[in-house]
Amino acid sequence: MSGSGSESQRWFQRALEVIPGGVYGHTSPVLSVPGRYPAFAREGRGSRYWDLYGKEYIDLLCGYGPVILGHRDPEVEAAANEARERGACLNHPSPLMVELAERLVAWVDFADWAVLAKNGSDLTTWCIRVAREHTNRPMVLKARGAYHGMHAWCTPGRGGLIPEDRAQVEEFSWNDVEELEACFHRHRDRVAALILTPFHHPSYGDSELPTEAFVAAANRLCRDSGALLVLDDVRCGLRLAELGSHGVFGYEPDLAVYGKALANGHAISAAVGRHRVRPAASRVFLTGTFWNDPAPMAAALETLDRVRRDGVHQRLAQAGERLLEGIQSAAGRHGVEVRTSGPPAMPYVRVEGDDSFLRTQALCVAALDRGVFLHPHHNWFLCAAHTDEVIDEAVERLEGAFQDFVRNGAGGGPPSP
Ligand code: PMP
Repeated sequence: MSGSGSESQRWFQRALEVIPGGVYGHTSPVLSVPGRYPAFAREGRGSRYWDLYGKEYIDLLCGYGPVILGHRDPEVEAAANEARERGACLNHPSPLMVELAERLVAWVDFADWAVLAKNGSDLTTWCIRVAREHTNRPMVLKARGAYHGMHAWCTPGRGGLIPEDRAQVEEFSWNDVEELEACFHRHRDRVAALILTPFHHPSYGDSELPTEAFVAAANRLCRDSGALLVLDDVRCGLRLAELGSHGVFGYEPDLAVYGKALANGHAISAAVGRHRVRPAASRVFLTGTFWNDPAPMAAALETLDRVRRDGVHQRLAQAGERLLEGIQSAAGRHGVEVRTSGPPAMPYVRVEGDDSFLRTQALCVAALDRGVFLHPHHNWFLCAAHTDEVIDEAVERLEGAFQDFVRNGAGGGPPSP
């Protein structure tokens, strides 16, 4: 194990003494490559981050998506720090809250109002309640394997659940129009909400873009039945378009939730909605002790300015395409078949035919050793700090990683001498 790995392991052992599971949820080292991936980070800057041992990585995970401009972007940090100096928790919100809500309403074509919180989960769940309040119906339809947060109605985890948590939630397969129609038919007059991510991006599975027929069916079934279409744009928001991704695929949502990339890593999320949903939205209780903190709001306003000014989503698409082309050529030169799916700005990449994920994990460890941080089961994220030069450097490092991967016998072909 590399020095960085053992330093992380020491902290992980300490964590296990005082924190159940050591590190929670998606950042648990158990969910990347157990025993091989760093479990703790020291700092990030631009396109890179450093682990506890001081080893530098080109970061292609970007904090699982929030970092869209680059780690510690100077302009975003300056805006957040200026707001921070006036206090993190006053008795009232700052006017920045109104300015940010105005910005969201101005930028999202279907939005007439906005609310702010800190987590994606809080607002996907709140939107479900708003849909139930608006329709006076109980049922929620969601795609199998889609992640909408850690609350009981949708968590992929198992602990602490009772059957009632899911009694009013039904799942269908992504892009399966017939199954979706059947769900609406079976629960006629009982469906409050259909919640969808813009495209299907499950962990441990290839990404799938929606078919035109699926998007059309989602819009039509909601419109005809009176159910609300909730777009969970927490992961994709700002990455596929300037803000909302609905227009990219043709969704006509009633409510949408943004989170991860909204403030380049500062803790804030937002939900927006149509005028007709406003009365229900005003009746469903929404609050959090720390939600008035002005610093993430200032960071979000700055991030949105930059996203527009610098055409960031186009940059991410270009950087992603360059990365994937580079990976495919490097893989080809070493006789490795790699499968990529999803939009290049947030691609899902694995070794072809690797159902156990063991070879993909081995490739990720080889990349880690060469100074590129990938994830074996989750989609990756590009950021604006991934300039062409940085991508080329990453591909050069990955060339070495493919070589090591094949040499270690994980490439599928015979091991090199
Ligand atoms: N929806 C989607 C699509 C997500 O990717 C996530 C976070 N991974 C969430 C909801 C939940 O957001 P949070 O972790 O901020 O609660």
